[in-house]
Amino acid sequence: MSMEQIIDKYFRPGRLPHIWCPGCGNGVITGAIVKAIDQVGLDQNAVAVISGIGCSSRASGYLDFNTVHSAHGRAIPVATGIKLADPSLNVVVITGDGDATAIGGNHLIHAARRNIDMTVVLYNNSIYGMTGGQYSPMTPLGSKATTAPYATIEHDFNVTELVKAARATFVARATTFHTQTLIDLIAKGIQHKGFSFIEAVSACPISFGRQNKMGGPDAMMMWQRDHAAPLAAWEKLNDEQRQGKFPIGILYEDTSRMEYTEAYDQLIAKAQGGKK
Ligand code: SF4
Repeated sequence: MSMEQIIDKYFRPGRLPHIWCPGCGNGVITGAIVKAIDQVGLDQNAVAVISGIGCSSRASGYLDFNTVHSAHGRAIPVATGIKLADPSLNVVVITGDGDATAIGGNHLIHAARRNIDMTVVLYNNSIYGMTGGQYSPMTPLGSKATTAPYATIEHDFNVTELVKAARATFVARATTFHTQTLIDLIAKGIQHKGFSFIEAVSACPISFGRQNKMGGPDAMMMWQRDHAAPLAAWEKLNDEQRQGKFPIGILYEDTSRMEYTEAYDQLIAKAQGGKK
């Protein structure tokens, strides 16, 4: 399918053009989600896309699925309610690093722990972009932000390790430079029965790049190319070689655990049968 056909089929023309800055990675990630859904062959009416608040979360408004643009940090609880109400839906959550790991951090870890069947795509632009460039829990240590003019002194979350520790059953990472990898990982996440999480490392040339002198959008994409290592290559690096780099690919997968809505159905059957 050509890009034009994809836009015609999956986007709401009345909501375009989008608000994102030129060179922003959000369009690449949103395109990857749509291409992944198309690749898996899901019926558009059987997909629910829920977002929180922030630059990335505007994506739900542009997409022609069942969508909810919810409240800050609350995309996952809304998605949880939707999935419990209709487990046949394929639920995709769009969130940002601030939305998911600050105000929504508790929701993220508990959805992972429950292993509820949804796919969370975290657009990691390393900053609160929409509100003017304040640092988030995923702004790298030593970066500048409007709330850290002398650079941050807080260590940032490694969110893939965080959700893995919280017992997510599918954890992956890609970047907007590695677009095909990103599409494939989101497609695998959608097909995974349980809680799947994909970190999409993105470029925010305006609120993060400018403050940290990272060059324009092209230079930020080259940064992604030079700092991401496919998992097989990453595993061969020693600790020194890993400094400043990060692995991409499927970082963790467990297909042995029961999914939450299935367990919930079993619980209902048990209660209706009067058994304890
Ligand atoms: Fe994209 Fe950053 Fe602009 Fe937000 S502020 S739209 S993340 S470039």
